[in-house]
Amino acid sequence: MARIETPRRIRGTQDIFGDEQRRFAHVLSTFERVRALYCFQRVDIPVFESTAVFARSLGETTDVVSKEMYSFEDRGGDSLTLRPEFTAGIARAYLTEGWQQFAPLKLTTSGPVFRYERPQKGRFRQFHQIDAEVIGAAEPAADVELLVLADQLLRELGISEGVTLQLNTLGDAATREAWRAALVAHFEAHRSELSEDSLTRLEKNPMRILDSKDPRDRPIADGAPDIDAYLTPEARAFFDAVTAGLDAAGVAWERNARLVRGLDYYRHTAFEFVTDRLGSQGTVLAGGRYDGLIGSLGGPETAGVGWAAGVERLAMLLDEPQATGIDAVVVPMGPEAEARATGIVADLRRAGVAVEMAYKGKMKARMAKADALGARFAIILGDDELAKGVGAVKALDTGTQTEVAFADLAEALR
Ligand code: ATP
Ligand code: MG
Repeated sequence: MARIETPRRIRGTQDIFGDEQRRFAHVLSTFERVRALYCFQRVDIPVFESTAVFARSLGETTDVVSKEMYSFEDRGGDSLTLRPEFTAGIARAYLTEGWQQFAPLKLTTSGPVFRYERPQKGRFRQFHQIDAEVIGAAEPAADVELLVLADQLLRELGISEGVTLQLNTLGDAATREAWRAALVAHFEAHRSELSEDSLTRLEKNPMRILDSKDPRDRPIADGAPDIDAYLTPEARAFFDAVTAGLDAAGVAWERNARLVRGLDYYRHTAFEFVTDRLGSQGTVLAGGRYDGLIGSLGGPETAGVGWAAGVERLAMLLDEPQATGIDAVVVPMGPEAEARATGIVADLRRAGVAVEMAYKGKMKARMAKADALGARFAIILGDDELAKGVGAVKALDTGTQTEVAFADLAEALR
């Protein structure tokens, strides 16, 4: 008989289970709780969009668009792309759904995103992001609110220690143009020392040379002119308002004048929360203001600011997750007790008690299962108990045992 080869997991994808799953779920539930405190609404958008949604908004020359997108032609001949991030899709939805009427709109979402990258620790091809956006607010207060939200999320996850907020401004359109010219002049003067990638960037997207990781580029990038000398008074005032807001909210930040962010649509505020605990995958949360984005999708000029964080990277920073813990394990002894236990377990669950049934193996193995599940109680059902209409309820921490009538079980376990 021909042997069937078992299928493989696709490179860069994950099957998330056990402790890993608990960390993952903890990140998502904490995000869900904190976003409600900041009065952000949850939104869900498609996993795929027309390729043009990402190509136009992220910029044709960015790494994501030029190298990392999962694009394919569907059976109708349309070019579609699995979302590599959320912002472009949310901006598209804002336009197609007429959400302008709700502006300013504070939104969060989460789910899988896809990038064709070289897989390594903290870097996957299908990974997960949590995402927060404020659309239709041009005021620095929106940037501040998003950053304070991010800071509180990291604190509530217990991982803010050792994570720093690095902040920069990319100025307004006039600032960017003047700074860009200065950068091009600087890099042109050092043309012969730049990496091949940076020579390409010099033609298409010179700002990106600033965050090059190539050691050949570093000294030239580090010696490049800062944006500060080119900031218009308006851009300077905007940045000052953001930093003042952070100071007022008690959020620590540091200036990183080399921080530019990969995507073309950023204006004014750009930021990353960075740790040294994850090697070269040290950026856990990143974002900025993207006032040019909705215009680039053909919509009216609309301000926007937002961030995304990698759920896996946040999960990796968490302490050992708590075992979930349940209320009780029912341990029926014998076929009659087992039959009866089915009804008791169903009643308990309907009453809001988390119970598992242990019906396999010897008594010892069943009690071991109750321990392994982190149950507070075991409910032992033998022939004696059935005859009396009670369960023998054993507190697993103290070992004390009491008899409780079936009708009173739910109450006793709460
Ligand atoms: P990097 O510099 O690590 O490639 P990026 O600038 O491409 O990150 P963003 O586009 O800002 O990342 O995405 C936001 C967050 O998503 C990152 O800060 C990171 O936590 C996470 N992230 C990005 N790419 C991956 C990936 N391939 N696998 C896992 N997480 C990722
Ligand atoms: Mg990347």
